[in-house]
Amino acid sequence: MKAVDPLGTQYKIRDYLNAMHLGQYVPDYLTLGASVTISAMEFLIGICLLFAIHRRLVSKFLVVLMSVWTLLTLWLALTDPISDCGCFGDAIVLTNWQTFWKNVVLLAAAILVALWPKDMARMISLSNQWIVFNYSTLFILFIAIWCLYDLPLFDFRPYHVGTNLREGWQEMMEGQDSPYAEFFIDSEDGDITEEVLNSEGYTFLLVSPHLEQADDSQLDRINEWYEYCTGQGYPFYCLTASSGQAISRWQDITGAEYPFCNTDEITLKTIVRSNPGLVLLKDGTVIRKWSHNRLPVLSEKDSVQPLERHEIGQMPNDSIPSKIAMLLLWFVLPLALLTIADRLWAWSRWLRKKRINPLNKKEERIMRKKIVAGNWKMNMNLQDGIALAKELNETLKADKPNCGVVICTPFIHLASIAQFLDQNIIGLGAENCADKEKGAFTGEVSAEMVKSTGAQYVILGHSERREYYKETPEILKEKVLLAQKNDLKVIFCIGESLEEREAGKQNEVVKAELEGSVFNLSEEDFRKIVIAYEPIWAIGTGKTATAEQAEEIHAYIRSIIAEKYGQAVADDTTILYGGSCKASNAPELFAKPDIDGGLIGGASLKAADFKGIIDAWKK
Ligand code: PEP
Repeated sequence: MKAVDPLGTQYKIRDYLNAMHLGQYVPDYLTLGASVTISAMEFLIGICLLFAIHRRLVSKFLVVLMSVWTLLTLWLALTDPISDCGCFGDAIVLTNWQTFWKNVVLLAAAILVALWPKDMARMISLSNQWIVFNYSTLFILFIAIWCLYDLPLFDFRPYHVGTNLREGWQEMMEGQDSPYAEFFIDSEDGDITEEVLNSEGYTFLLVSPHLEQADDSQLDRINEWYEYCTGQGYPFYCLTASSGQAISRWQDITGAEYPFCNTDEITLKTIVRSNPGLVLLKDGTVIRKWSHNRLPVLSEKDSVQPLERHEIGQMPNDSIPSKIAMLLLWFVLPLALLTIADRLWAWSRWLRKKRINPLNKKEERIMRKKIVAGNWKMNMNLQDGIALAKELNETLKADKPNCGVVICTPFIHLASIAQFLDQNIIGLGAENCADKEKGAFTGEVSAEMVKSTGAQYVILGHSERREYYKETPEILKEKVLLAQKNDLKVIFCIGESLEEREAGKQNEVVKAELEGSVFNLSEEDFRKIVIAYEPIWAIGTGKTATAEQAEEIHAYIRSIIAEKYGQAVADDTTILYGGSCKASNAPELFAKPDIDGGLIGGASLKAADFKGIIDAWKK
């Protein structure tokens, strides 16, 4: 309602500012910007709620917004500085108390939604939500800007096309309640309202609340219409609330010869949302309105014909149903089709997985690899490390795992372990590699050196390296490129700190980490990456993220991969969970559809513990 009439909303914002004695400090471009922003924001919140997009964030934001609106309307109801809140533009006019109670109800509803955001059923998959959001943003901005350029798409004011002003004014004169109480036309010779409204045939009204601020780019066209009216004998008046001085200035600039009449400023702003705008009356009925940007062109042939023979002399046939049909066609229909396609796709995927493995709850993992990887960190000397690797090798040869298994060890273990490890069953990897190819970098181990030991994997971006060795996204980007250049498979770690989780920033953090170091890769190279989501607060602390918390962020990570590389790549990307994962909690975590295994620290240092986690894939 607000977006189709940005000027009306702007006027309302100005009313509020004036009531707060702030009007003189805020320029028009800011109130107009606020008008478009507020309408677009409210519309988008509605769309997000409808489609259950970013449920938690949106519902919190909604509570804040509704609290502000409720307080504002309470103030309005108590002090009564403005008669109508403007919540629904001109479409529905409420009293100030009605609007306050309406907001109390909506605030209560918003609080309910914010308390149980997850109960909102998703109408569209996570990976397609951006389409709905961006399309709706473009749509609502287009509508607002178009209505600013032209006129409101829907006109709910008492001067809309089709209104018989003559009758309305007559009723007012008879003392009935009427929206035309402020409608008068004063000429030099006195009040001519009755004469104008009772005039038979066509009358043109050029409407300009303030000639000082009127757009003067279409002066020639306005003058052409005036000349045409003079030739055809149609009355033509300019209605304005400007002073005599402003009228003289306008006449000097434009050469206007038409008569000027005085009318109430608010009434003029209500008649047509354009300064200047042109209104055509026929027998006292409004039959056409134009903004100055869309004034009709008068061709040579038309200029000698009476208006009866012009198309514009007739009531337009773009009725409200046809406008609604246009909105349905351009907005509702594409979104409805997208939603149906999305639901069908989700449903067919679900059916396909059910058919392939009806008993397996981990339906989504048909394509991607399940992995359990150990990260030994800086533990165990060479002999102990070899002993552990041998024990694991024997155990897993005897009882084959149901998933990929990798052990990532300190550099010094790699070459020795590679000699005996059956790498068809257990992959071998390093815990780091240098961000330089080779050269004078004392103490560093390059990706090429890692590869030369017989290792196939490398962990990069572990939070301990980011924190203690100040590895930045740029350094990690280099490491990833060098690792891939040397044919190493990267297990890339991401995850948020406790403060970031408490501030609700986990999604933002993991997105930035991916964007900073791996989203530069081509699709082909990204497909070789394994992601490990490791909340820092869960690493080595004994605190595991709940399976639901982990699943939520894994699904989010998959959705941003889908946004970047498409759904097929996202479906094939292995995303491991890491952080105090043990044999006791692994089955619950691994049962989640977006968790494809684990990166295991402490529990990978004992063969039995590690095997317990690997066996979670057999449950
Ligand atoms: C890790 O450091 O990668 C890790 C997950 O550690 P832990 O399992 O000990 O929490």
